[in-house]
Amino acid sequence: KLYNDVQDLKGNIRVYCRIRPFLPGQNQNHTTIEFVGENGEIIVSNPLKQGKENRKLFKFNKVFGPAASQEEVFMDTQPLIRSVLDGYNVCIFAYGQTGSGKTYTMSGPTLSSKADWGVNYRALHDLFHISQRRRTSIVYEVGVQMVEIYNEQVRDLLSSNGPQKRLGIWSTAQPNGLAVPDASLHSVSSMTDVLELMNIGLTNRATSATALNERSSRSHSVLTIHVRGTDLETNTLLRGCLHLVDLAGSERVDRSEATGDRLREAQHINKSLSALGDVIFALSQKSPHVPYRNSKLTQVLQSSLGGQAKTLMFVQLNPDVASYSETISTLKFAERVS
Ligand code: ADP
Ligand code: MG
Repeated sequence: KLYNDVQDLKGNIRVYCRIRPFLPGQNQNHTTIEFVGENGEIIVSNPLKQGKENRKLFKFNKVFGPAASQEEVFMDTQPLIRSVLDGYNVCIFAYGQTGSGKTYTMSGPTLSSKADWGVNYRALHDLFHISQRRRTSIVYEVGVQMVEIYNEQVRDLLSSNGPQKRLGIWSTAQPNGLAVPDASLHSVSSMTDVLELMNIGLTNRATSATALNERSSRSHSVLTIHVRGTDLETNTLLRGCLHLVDLAGSERVDRSEATGDRLREAQHINKSLSALGDVIFALSQKSPHVPYRNSKLTQVLQSSLGGQAKTLMFVQLNPDVASYSETISTLKFAERVS
């Protein structure tokens, strides 16, 4: 099949593709991304193979090529983020193999320069900015939570006592859909507050890595932004929440090589990413049964997947030929859920 239409979306699911640039030392001639179109199309092929049947075309709502800046990416994400102020729940997540740019897109490579900020920081910055200059009768409050899901266990990354405590998941039956674990909720009103908190989060994530290398690529991290707007004139309350998710690496682990902890991690990642795929697939099919309960990840995200909620997936690609088969499997995931 040459034409894989990832764009014709049912429901409130959007799919953006982002291709990261080659890094120093990578052979730029060996790119799997043959073409990036203005209209959201890309052509993927394996340069080490001959023949036209090797070329595959995929279509998304939007494609960001290697030169796209953090700001450009955010411009197309902003409307979704602002809808949180109107009471919508929104889920934005980055999917792709380790090294494909998920953390770059969601958080950014560094925090020190604003130009580097990813979607997370830009979202908070924007929410503060907008909420301060909107209709004066509405007072907004912003709270954040951050959890890590590793081997089907949820941990609070913003706890000042370290990340040790395992959390349960609250019932999702609450009217406001705050299906977030009982993780600490921190009220924030400026970027200074946010950056201070994120440093705690990063430290907690790092200290839990003990024996494991690169744990961050094998766990999901979920930043939840809760917005509560009180209209002082009408005395009404609006709530919205935004889940920003840096998923674990989607790469397949060779069963013959992985054993013990590594295999167990891989199985948990596999299970939770397929559960996420199954939930979004069920939503796109308007299926009466949406299997939220199959993983901690989908339970945590339930309030922002389905119903009136809006979902945006960043499909992250590494253009290097060595990543070809992972690139194809990432694109297949995207195809299925849209
Ligand atoms: P992941 O979180 O998917 O494992 P990273 O976000 O850590 O991947 O990205 C891997 C490497 O590629 C990092 O060195 C990162 O800075 C770089 N990178 C990713 N995306 C971009 C981009 N759009 N522009 C420049 N460098 C990028
Ligand atoms: Mg990462």
